[in-house]
Amino acid sequence: MTLRSILIHPDPRLKKVCDPVAQIDDDLRALADDMLATMYDAPGVGLAAPQVGVMRRVLVMDCVKDLKAPPRPMVLINPEVTWSSAETSTYEEGCLSIPEQYADVTRPAEVRVRWLGLDGKLHEEGFEGLWSTCVQHEIDHLNGKLFIDYLGPLKRQMITRKMEKLKREMARA
Ligand SMILES: [Zn+2]
Repeated sequence: MTLRSILIHPDPRLKKVCDPVAQIDDDLRALADDMLATMYDAPGVGLAAPQVGVMRRVLVMDCVKDLKAPPRPMVLINPEVTWSSAETSTYEEGCLSIPEQYADVTRPAEVRVRWLGLDGKLHEEGFEGLWSTCVQHEIDHLNGKLFIDYLGPLKRQMITRKMEKLKREMARA
């Protein structure tokens, strides 16, 4: 298991539509393991493959907040939203590719998602609360969309400038 470095916005790879996964092989299993380790290490509740520079439709998440509860690491391959509720909810979102910036984003409160598991089988499940926000945020990544794309242009530019500055500082360090 290897920790992979997380791309920081702005990066052209974070704006691209990712390719579907055609087969589950050792490479893909290693990618999923690395992504989960990288997510827990960050720490974060979700991570999409393009955030580690792999342009494939894979995401990992674990939104169990209670430290005493068992973790629930999930790997979703080629995920698709099959239903979204008309009811919305607003959650203050952040992103491992946009460190320390948070903003309210309104999305469908509940979604159903179908995906291919590492077991090669199709799964379908409904998500609500943080899980729903997280899975929608991560699926957006697979389509080259970031949570700041839901904000007004001024707020988005302000955050992008901060990230450009952060990247210059990181490059110098
Ligand atoms: Zn994100």
